[in-house]
Amino acid sequence: MGLIVQKFGGTSVANTERLQNVARIITETYRQGNQVVAVLSAQGDTTDDLIEKAREVNPRASKREMDMLLSTGEQISCALCAMAIEALGFPVVSLTGWQAGFQTNSNYSSAKIKTVHTERIQAELDRNHSIVIVTGFQGLNKYDDITTLGRGGSDTSAVALAAALKADLCQIYTDVEGVYTADPRHVKGARKLEEITFDEMLELASQGAQVLHNRSVELAKKYRVNLEVLSSFANKPGTKVKEVVKRMEKTQISGVAKDKNVARLALVGVEDKPGIAYRVFSLLGKEDINVDIILQSIGRDDTKDISFTVKRDDAEKAADLLNEYKESIGFDHIDVDKEVVKVSIVGAGMVDDAGVAAKMFGALYDADVNIQMISTSEIKVSVLLDENDANAAVQAIHDKFFGE
Ligand code: ADP
Ligand code: ASP
Ligand code: MG
Repeated sequence: MGLIVQKFGGTSVANTERLQNVARIITETYRQGNQVVAVLSAQGDTTDDLIEKAREVNPRASKREMDMLLSTGEQISCALCAMAIEALGFPVVSLTGWQAGFQTNSNYSSAKIKTVHTERIQAELDRNHSIVIVTGFQGLNKYDDITTLGRGGSDTSAVALAAALKADLCQIYTDVEGVYTADPRHVKGARKLEEITFDEMLELASQGAQVLHNRSVELAKKYRVNLEVLSSFANKPGTKVKEVVKRMEKTQISGVAKDKNVARLALVGVEDKPGIAYRVFSLLGKEDINVDIILQSIGRDDTKDISFTVKRDDAEKAADLLNEYKESIGFDHIDVDKEVVKVSIVGAGMVDDAGVAAKMFGALYDADVNIQMISTSEIKVSVLLDENDANAAVQAIHDKFFGE
């Protein structure tokens, strides 16, 4: 018996039958004597459909109005779920992000949660003994305007709520049975992990494994939230995400991830003198454009090339910005390549194992895949590849590390 936060993703609430299934999971948990707060995403493709609708009206709509629109998807699923629970005869109340006390900063479309004022939820739980259903993905800023947390942000709503309520458990219910060694929908032989560390999960999520929103993992680590990922369709144990795990079998890495949201920019013919990298990357930083992998070529004829990756949506903005300062920075031209993908391997043990990166590169060589850029850290190795090579590359790397 305790306080449990359960989050249900878009596929899990996509239609009436699935909403009724979710209502059964929630009420069963309540019936066992727990207090239950459920955080829901919008149904199925609702958020994508709303974005499409907005584009038809105004392709350059302000982010404030986009957030006003997108937050409605979660309201629909929550109200419907509450109705399904009412029909089963349990006390229930659904709340929007602001009713639930989510205070965020004003960064529309990718707002960060500042605090969650839990008084209302606590009262519903303690005084009314209600099941509480909360809209994921949204909050309110200091101007009382609705904000959203970025795509996939309902996971973060759930973990933030679990932390604020000091919940005993936060369960992320989704459409696969847990966290796998690679996306089980696209990689043959992907295996479910019983456990994974916060650090490895954070890295996998940041490198494209959308099974958890990366901010949710950061919060879970910071506030020591007892987190688990499991399926809303199969009644089976999922994956526990925790500080320390015991590895059943000795694998060198915990997973492979693919990130399509990336573009490569190359500044060609840059003057070979001090201060250029500083100019380029401080200009980008001021505009909040995050740079990931950076590669600088050896100079020739007093010039060099600087290549780097940014999020795909930021590519044009970054190129326009640098072109504006072309004379003062001193370069010949910029190439932009959006047909690239980043593939990463993640594993806490690789820092002590010099052979891991070589093994990954060997798999790519065997699959005849050319590597454009490489970056490494204590816990991951990432390579930038041609988009057309990505699936074969992920499969080859996965086979190499996890094959029979
Ligand atoms: P939800 O709507 O429940 O939030 P998401 O679509 O955001 O679900 O995330 C679940 C999906 O993440 C899965 O359907 C799967 O295709 C994908 N995925 C990518 N990498 C992994 C991984 N390593 N383990 C599990 N699922 C993964
Ligand atoms: N509905 C939002 C999205 O599709 C938030 C979420 O599902 O987590 O991104
Ligand atoms: Mg998700």
